[in-house]
Amino acid sequence: MRSYGLGVLDMAKDFSRKLYSSKAWKDCRKEVLRRDLYTCAYCYGRASEVHHVIELTPENINDISIALNPDNLISVCHDCHAKITLGGGDIREGYVFDDNGNVVPAHTPPLQGHGVCAKKPDAAHL
Ligand SMILES: [Zn+2]
Repeated sequence: MRSYGLGVLDMAKDFSRKLYSSKAWKDCRKEVLRRDLYTCAYCYGRASEVHHVIELTPENINDISIALNPDNLISVCHDCHAKITLGGGDIREGYVFDDNGNVVPAHTPPLQGHGVCAKKPDAAHL
């Protein structure tokens, strides 16, 4: 609550700057783009960016199972990314198109079982 001088928006972006300049992120981004054949998940145009399905926050930015998990990343073109980020598109943050073109909540697939995700839930309580 100290650095008010920069303004809230600057702060919001500032927390992710370190991630986006890291090699780990660049590798991950490249991997996701390649996985998706550089195809935008929304308009099937040429993707040049990747989008975090579960939005990054200052709380989860250090959680590699969110920030650097290919399962939480989709390839998007610049236009669609801007729409998603601004919430102005016809698909909302947290939702994705499935294989049939239906809008489904992006949180459905569990974020586990992937290489970078070291966390495992404790044994289920019955
Ligand atoms: Zn697009």
